[in-house]
Amino acid sequence: MNYILMGPPGAGKGTQAKKIVETFRMVHLSTGDMFRKAKKFDEVISKLLATGQLVPDEIVVNMLKKRLEKDDVRKGFLLDGFPRTLNQAQELDKMLKSENIKIDAVFFIDVHFEEAVKRISGRRVCSCGASYHVNFIPSKVAGICDACRSELVQRNDDKENVVKDRLGVYEKQTKPLVDYYDKAGLLVNIDGSKSEDEVFERIARLMGNV
Ligand code: ADP
Ligand code: ADP
Ligand code: ZN
Repeated sequence: MNYILMGPPGAGKGTQAKKIVETFRMVHLSTGDMFRKAKKFDEVISKLLATGQLVPDEIVVNMLKKRLEKDDVRKGFLLDGFPRTLNQAQELDKMLKSENIKIDAVFFIDVHFEEAVKRISGRRVCSCGASYHVNFIPSKVAGICDACRSELVQRNDDKENVVKDRLGVYEKQTKPLVDYYDKAGLLVNIDGSKSEDEVFERIARLMGNV
């Protein structure tokens, strides 16, 4: 089974994706994670990420195309942070068609603007991929990862001056995709304001049925 996780920055996509792929043994395809790795080598990408702008469609689409050609995605994948524009969604449709792969559902995790800002502002991440929130999902020892004991950091683009720009980019460029997937009959609305466990239970139950 193959799924897409959609939602504004801070909705909880990464948090849920981690639990879903561990539980259902799927491949997690996060374009954000891929770019955070790539930015060490690429100044242009680094600048776009730091200012909360989208990486050009052509770059994202080519990166994902290569990734989807690998065999491991055949056991099922979860797309997180892609597609983010209408053009990316159309390109994805083409890719999937040519590889004879289908998407089973698009889970749209939604939270209000204010909640997204609170979540992003308190997010702390570890290089091992774990993610925490200083108030909502704190690590056992402040500033230290529970899983690997490394120091937690704040993402560059989670700083206050970039957060509102990112939410603006989302409203303008990504939100229209809700309609696109609704028309395609794939959209499933998830109330992202619930707790981490409640959101996960809802998605897990749906994944058993869709
Ligand atoms: P996204 O990948 O959609 O940007 P994340 O999964 O990184 O979002 O979550 C954003 C922040 O909110 C993180 O600090 C995370 O720990 C926290 N968080 C995730 N899910 C919840 C939830 N259901 N309730 C409260 N905080 C959450
Ligand atoms: P978020 O917490 O906002 O969901 P992500 O980790 O998904 O963050 O993305 C971080 C940044 O990576 C974005 O602000 C953007 O610059 C870039 N990025 C990730 N996915 C895409 C995409 N599909 N298209 C364009 N840019 C992307
Ligand atoms: Zn860690």
